[in-house]
Amino acid sequence: MNEFEVIARFFRPLSRDGTGVRIGIGDDGAVLNGIRDRELVVTTDTIVSGIHFPADCPAGAVGHRALAVNLSDLAAMGADPAWYTLSLALPKVQTHWLRAFTRGLDRLAQRASIHLVGGDTVRSPVLSVTVTAFGLVPRGQVFLRSTARPGDRIFVSGPLGLAAQGLARWQGGQRRSRRLRPFLYPEPKLDWIRVLRRDVRCAIDISDGFAQDLGHLLEASRVGAVVDLDRIPRDRRDPIALDRALFGGDDYELCFTIPDTRLATLRARTRRAGLEGFEVGRVVPGRGIRWQRADGSSASRIKGRGFDHFAKPTTRR
Ligand code: ADP
Ligand code: MG
Repeated sequence: MNEFEVIARFFRPLSRDGTGVRIGIGDDGAVLNGIRDRELVVTTDTIVSGIHFPADCPAGAVGHRALAVNLSDLAAMGADPAWYTLSLALPKVQTHWLRAFTRGLDRLAQRASIHLVGGDTVRSPVLSVTVTAFGLVPRGQVFLRSTARPGDRIFVSGPLGLAAQGLARWQGGQRRSRRLRPFLYPEPKLDWIRVLRRDVRCAIDISDGFAQDLGHLLEASRVGAVVDLDRIPRDRRDPIALDRALFGGDDYELCFTIPDTRLATLRARTRRAGLEGFEVGRVVPGRGIRWQRADGSSASRIKGRGFDHFAKPTTRR
């Protein structure tokens, strides 16, 4: 099968008529309409075999991940998914692999109502997948990293560290456990966009571990935080859950801040949407993160696995 046959067989079927797509796959470029009074959010991520996912990862999970990581960025910006492009660098053309890959990709794309409008297909010694996603947001309503203010409450959208746990299970040889799912099929938090749009002050998605990504948000906003370790949602059966929650990657939960005055409406909205947010701390003046226990004791003085690692980021500045 040559490049053009691969495109015609595997990718063209994913390009359906969608919002604002005048010309999708098949010409030299896509032609898109329908922006009107909204702002366009663009994000791109490349995932490489052996670096961002294990080389023996199922093809469907690779397709899912390539899109999911980009949808997570759109969610963190408060943008509704609209269009995406797919650039695929493949060592060889294997029909069964491509079929499973596009199925994993398209299943998520259909759920997210995002439309494939173009891409590129090349041969390469290493499998790598680049998705560029375009999202739309009402003018002036994007969620940014740089807008947190002292007094805001800090929330996460769900349990942390489950993807790191799944990866460890995968590396340990497990292939069937339900607990591989958060790693193999991370779920972008698109349901949160509508819930947060009116009330949120600041947001980021957690792709590189909560400690690091919260750090990015705080730095961009030029503020600090106090985080209550006991309130970080995680798998309490896992003895190293806190470590994974703080430093494990690939969770794709959202971390966001809310002004005090918006807490009640946020609670009502999350409940109505069938979602649950977890308040884990608050934004304070200054810089850096102070990790504390529920009783107010500082975690940097607590000896135990994990704390030595994260004593470092907290003592910066
Ligand atoms: P060009 O040579 O003009 O760059 P290509 O031959 O690379 O065009 O691609 C032909 C059409 O197929 C274009 O519309 C392109 O966007 C689309 N396409 C190529 N590869 C992919 C892919 N992996 N996924 C989606 N669309 C693709
Ligand atoms: Mg080309």
